[in-house]
Amino acid sequence: MSTREWNDWRWQNRHRFTSLSALARVLELTDDERQALQAHRGSLPVGITPYYASLLDPRNAMQPLRRTVVPTLAEFKRMPGEADDPLGEDGHSPVPGLVHRYPDRVLFLVSNFCTTYCRYCTRSRMVGSSDADRAVTRSQWEQSIAYIAAHPEVRDVLISGGDPLSLSDERLEWLLTRLRHIPHVEFLRIGTKVPVVMPQRITPALTRMLKRFHPLWMSIHFLHPDEITPEVVEACERLADAGIPLGSQTVLLKDVNDNVPVMKQLVHNLLKIRVKPYYLYQCDPITGSGHFRTPVQTGLDIIRGLRGHTTGYAVPAYVIDAPGGGGKIPLLPDYVAGRDGDDLLLVNFEGRQFRYPDPLGKPEYSDAAPTKPKTSDAAGAAPASQGRTGGRMPCA
Ligand SMILES: *Cc1c(COP(=O)(O)O)cnc(C)c1O
Ligand code: SF4
Repeated sequence: MSTREWNDWRWQNRHRFTSLSALARVLELTDDERQALQAHRGSLPVGITPYYASLLDPRNAMQPLRRTVVPTLAEFKRMPGEADDPLGEDGHSPVPGLVHRYPDRVLFLVSNFCTTYCRYCTRSRMVGSSDADRAVTRSQWEQSIAYIAAHPEVRDVLISGGDPLSLSDERLEWLLTRLRHIPHVEFLRIGTKVPVVMPQRITPALTRMLKRFHPLWMSIHFLHPDEITPEVVEACERLADAGIPLGSQTVLLKDVNDNVPVMKQLVHNLLKIRVKPYYLYQCDPITGSGHFRTPVQTGLDIIRGLRGHTTGYAVPAYVIDAPGGGGKIPLLPDYVAGRDGDDLLLVNFEGRQFRYPDPLGKPEYSDAAPTKPKTSDAAGAAPASQGRTGGRMPCA
């Protein structure tokens, strides 16, 4: 293998690790991993790009990145409440491959193929089901495009999969062109993990093509600070320089990223490469995901550990995609401690209590003189009143 080959995404794609024998050449597999690789059948195959495999620790099966892509026997255990399609996506599909759950936007699953398969994938029921199914058919695309064109309320199309960036530039361009021709589609976005698992895919030719379809946003699936390598930095810089606003999507995973220090490092590194942490997902109860799921409290504690303690831009929204198809439901730690008469009792990031005047019902105006801050004579001596009068401009 030459450097030129290594840097060529097609080479990366062709040389993906997909079998026990291939992985055994680069990792010291545990018995558990071996058995899991042997027993594996059906959808959610094993797939790891040589690039991503190079980030794996050959000797430590508990390394966060390795746990997320190398199967273990725990994957075959079914826990209460788990399902193959926990989000009820199939039930919200007016045509195969299109999920219309929210009023104004759709999720367009354009491919079943991913270059690297995540062991906790929400769409494990469909991704990589077999080589013949790899590409969603052109006629399926046509049906989805026709649906979007016939529904003027759809102003936002989220292109996902599988991974849309596993498609060739030509197919992707064809698809984006068709979607851009629909007048009511004002916002396009691509959900992808490719910049993380195969950053070589983000070529100048790709970004030149993508920037013709603005406004185009991108949500990138990041898990862990170790993923942010020089190659990934370069890929994200290229995308950002093409004017594509970047957001991250992170699944909260046990023993991978379920603590504040790791998450803080991740979100800080993301801001440095111009990726706004967008969503932190509670892991969906997909069949065989028990070993990856954390209590919801863990996610709340992470948000509490970020908000106020670091840059507001760095704090993602923590959401549970409601089983049964309720959509994403945001969760926040309790910053509201209750009420005391007309005051709302609030708790700040340090755990200190504050009051905000928030009368219920009709406000009653008193006859007292308007609460003009007595600033002229007491300017330097009234720090308490600065809190009320200063910093009111929302744009400040
Ligand atoms: C996540 C998701 C979207 C996009 O949701 P946003 O909150 O707008 O990012 C749209 N449709 C489906 C089915 C989804 O799961
Ligand atoms: S990249 Fe996304 S669709 Fe593909 S296996 Fe991972 S989570 Fe699933």
